[in-house]
Amino acid sequence: MEPRSAAATGKDFPYTARTTCYIEVHKDGTVTHGNDPAAYERAVAGKSRLFAVWPGEWSSHLFVIDDLDEYAKAHGIKHDEERTGLKEHIHDVRWEPNPYAKDSPRSPYIGVSITLNCGCSIQDLRAFAAHMQEQRGWTVATSGGWGSSSGPGGTRYSLRVRRKSLAD
Ligand SMILES: [Zn+2]
Repeated sequence: MEPRSAAATGKDFPYTARTTCYIEVHKDGTVTHGNDPAAYERAVAGKSRLFAVWPGEWSSHLFVIDDLDEYAKAHGIKHDEERTGLKEHIHDVRWEPNPYAKDSPRSPYIGVSITLNCGCSIQDLRAFAAHMQEQRGWTVATSGGWGSSSGPGGTRYSLRVRRKSLAD
């Protein structure tokens, strides 16, 4: 079976879908499963080739990962402004405790309301959480609900941040 080209499917390729499984074929012929930044490094260095099985409704298709840049952006190995809505800069963040969040005083996380004055938008909470960890030492909850609402003052995001990390 000839593998198809993932690059040819463009942005529609389900790089991060739970059902997509990755196969790495190493130069010595060994085959391993899974994907991580190390696999990406090996593929870039030409030490291995990455393939993905995309299970279809009736049959599965084998794709060669021939656009490693796109693969890396999809997996967050490389930053992607388009996907995340976030520039790689120090964000101008305005925040306040969310007055509508009903947090118990003992809850380790509190709801905060955030606006980004730098023009960025949050499309990928994990990417934003990583930036906030790096820039402000915040631990943003990435599991559970978050939301956004647009108003005259711009887009407000409601997120949950670890109380202790806000105070430090
Ligand atoms: Zn920004």
